[in-house]
Amino acid sequence: MPKFKRDFEMENEWGTHLTDREEARPLRTDIHASDLLGCLRQTVISREYSSQFDVMTLLRFSFGHAFEAALFKSVFTGESDGFVNPREALKHWDESAEDLEDWLEAAVERMNGGPTQELEVWKDGIVAHIDFGGDPFDFECKLTWVRPDDDVNAFLKKQWKWVEQIGTYAYMRDRLESRLAVMHVAPVPELRIYSLVWTPQELFDHWIRMMDRKQKVERHIQEGSLPGKTSQTKLCAGCSLKWICES
Ligand code: SF4
Repeated sequence: MPKFKRDFEMENEWGTHLTDREEARPLRTDIHASDLLGCLRQTVISREYSSQFDVMTLLRFSFGHAFEAALFKSVFTGESDGFVNPREALKHWDESAEDLEDWLEAAVERMNGGPTQELEVWKDGIVAHIDFGGDPFDFECKLTWVRPDDDVNAFLKKQWKWVEQIGTYAYMRDRLESRLAVMHVAPVPELRIYSLVWTPQELFDHWIRMMDRKQKVERHIQEGSLPGKTSQTKLCAGCSLKWICES
């Protein structure tokens, strides 16, 4: 049997790598849709100060992001998604250049109309990254510890932030319909997909509110002032800029 022991040194090294990477992240200058859906005070502070996260939180984020992206790509797009697998491509390259060309052409054809992961869209100076942009609708994907609820309205009312986010994307894409794919992790993994349909007036009103928030953020940035603290105090619990907000 080998001798076992925990390698604390390496654990620390990996943790430091995460915090260093976070600290080196450039400050955000664009206005992202998500900047307008939470605490505007946080959005304004984040233009000047970096977020401070502990290793545990960064590990949780890394896990969530990596798992969400990989999981939904595999569940959602399957094999016929047209994503180019470099190993596959190399195999075809070994055969011949023509073979590779044929294979790539077929892959691109499968991709047409298929979903694009992390689709970037811009409208009126706001940028958004949609989990999967596709036709006839886009998909927003969420991984959650919240348990599924058969009462769809009650469930989505509690997740109003997701609904606002998806509504923002729908307006930016000039659409009235979207899909929300939710992977409930507990008690056992379960996938539920919700259809969200708005009226044009609902989305327009929502966009006007987004524009108001954007103008408020821009005004504060210009004046070097801060908006008041959010009334949604639960956002403060995990706020990475609390140290500035309260100082
Ligand atoms: S601590 Fe709360 S009020 Fe302050 S920036 Fe963070 S979320 Fe906003």
